[in-house]
Amino acid sequence: MLIENASAIFKRISHAAMRAGRSPDEVKLIAVTKTVGIETIKEAIDAGLRIFGENRVQEAQKKISDLKFEITPPIPPLEKGGMKGGVEWHLIGHLQKNKAKYAVQLFDLIHTVDSIELAEELNKQAEKIGKIQSILVQVKLSEEETKHGVSEDELILLLEEIKKLKNLKLEGLMTMPPFFDNPEEARPYFRRLRKIRDNAKEKGFMLPELSMGMSGDFEVAIEEGATMVRIGTALFGERENK
Ligand SMILES: *Cc1c(COP(=O)(O)O)cnc(C)c1O
Repeated sequence: MLIENASAIFKRISHAAMRAGRSPDEVKLIAVTKTVGIETIKEAIDAGLRIFGENRVQEAQKKISDLKFEITPPIPPLEKGGMKGGVEWHLIGHLQKNKAKYAVQLFDLIHTVDSIELAEELNKQAEKIGKIQSILVQVKLSEEETKHGVSEDELILLLEEIKKLKNLKLEGLMTMPPFFDNPEEARPYFRRLRKIRDNAKEKGFMLPELSMGMSGDFEVAIEEGATMVRIGTALFGERENK
């Protein structure tokens, strides 16, 4: 049951935060709804979830517009968490430049900016609609060919370029370690991202948000400083391969 899953996850988030001497309020749960239908998303809203992560622009577009008609009046904000009175949508999957225009219309936060070209295009499209687009930069910390993200070596250059773009608001970093059966093996990647963030701070880049941790390893990620965990399977069950 979704409501039980959600409350179990909220509890595990709290415990992980407290183990690390952090406040549970510092960690946002992003419910990853790729392949999940809108009936279930409505249940998720009833269960107290407010931030949804999608990895494909087109899939998100359909769900967001379907839901708009179904949820009136707007959902009340939770007591904690400071949500804007509705739900937030985050893009957590790779973004192609030619979809930047739609991405800025749909998403409150884009987690996956990994090139100057993409940042410039997002800036241009955000400017067109008079929006300041919040973004994270995705950092690639493993050698896997299939993973997107900017390398550690190129990060500072990218951050410098983003700083010049007036319609982007850089909030932090995101990473996706390789999949391990044992979450402890992901810990060095999470610790690394935090280190990189701290080093960037010394160079003048304030990057408060760290988006890291998924169903199998979010507690470890929180212990290492995650402020956003992206959880699909542990909330909604196994996805069918699409
Ligand atoms: C699918 C996905 C998740 C959620 O993964 P689970 O293991 O189902 O929790 C998190 N982040 C990204 C980028 C994803 O694509």
